[in-house]
Amino acid sequence: MESISKIKTSNGDIKTPALLPVCALTYGVWDVFIEEKVTPPWKLSEATLFSLEYVRNTKYEEKVINGFHKLFTDKKPIFVDSGGFQSMKKGIERDPIDVLRFQEKLQADIAATFDYPVPLNVKQSEYIKMLEKSIESANLALENKKRDEMLLYSCVHGFSEEEIDWYFSKLSDGFDGYAMGSLVPRKNDYKTLIDIIYKAKIHAHERGKPLHIFGVTGFPMLYALSYMGIETMDSWTYLVASIYKEYIHPQTLKRVRMRKTGKIPECDCFICKEFGMNDFLGATSVPQAYLAIHNLNIFLREMNLIKESISENNFDDLVNIKSKDNERIKKVCDYAKRHISNKNLQYRITEF
Ligand SMILES: [Zn+2]
Repeated sequence: MESISKIKTSNGDIKTPALLPVCALTYGVWDVFIEEKVTPPWKLSEATLFSLEYVRNTKYEEKVINGFHKLFTDKKPIFVDSGGFQSMKKGIERDPIDVLRFQEKLQADIAATFDYPVPLNVKQSEYIKMLEKSIESANLALENKKRDEMLLYSCVHGFSEEEIDWYFSKLSDGFDGYAMGSLVPRKNDYKTLIDIIYKAKIHAHERGKPLHIFGVTGFPMLYALSYMGIETMDSWTYLVASIYKEYIHPQTLKRVRMRKTGKIPECDCFICKEFGMNDFLGATSVPQAYLAIHNLNIFLREMNLIKESISENNFDDLVNIKSKDNERIKKVCDYAKRHISNKNLQYRITEF
């Protein structure tokens, strides 16, 4: 069983495992959060992940360009991704150094190197070239980094354990951590995800560095990744569900379509103590923000339960309880457990 650890940044520590809510700054809801009309995600979590492509060329860019933190009342760690995934979708290719300078200007506490995520159905001979470009871009960023306070995580890609081994062998020494991408298009194949993520975990652990997993954290993965000792992971399910007016069920952890069901189950989070379904259904940004924060509260509550159970050594009991309502949690965790015991590895408490 893995142990709780801590990542030190210039704006505070991240106690791990930690779930970082993704903030995309493209929807109206962010004005509501920045003005704190509704408690914003960054007040509730250990740290927050901002997506570079959703900051760049938005109305917020000017406000945050000389330091992201001045937008917020709390001093907490901010992770800024490289925007590689959005660039790929938009068909833009960014200069890796330009991305690095932008992250430095934003005064990110953690930044991921620019990468070239691989979509589905690309031949191995093709995507290996993309992996090589991601490696080159990471090593280049490491050589050119100017801001000491910023932790630089190398992006990691690969679709088999052998490819992960090869990828790590090509990276220079000196990264502060690793961040694994290209997983979103493959998120339904949980067995492969667990195999390759655990392989990356072993490499990161051998180097004494933390590992972040981009983009695949629903509840079953939240459980499995924490069990595997992954330090940080992100999710924007709380936000996406709120756009579709979906309420995360506090017990089954499934998304409830409020308009279809016409009612919602009871929840004791601080939003639901004050507001009800009709307050979530309105068309403006405030109802969406309430709903997003209820959804996030459920994610963070589960994260806390997981942390507690790991420190008290009864993670299995928690998985069994949760699996009564959500059998996928057990399925995914059982696979992770089998996989880890085959590898016969244990981790110790680590501080980064
Ligand atoms: Zn609630």
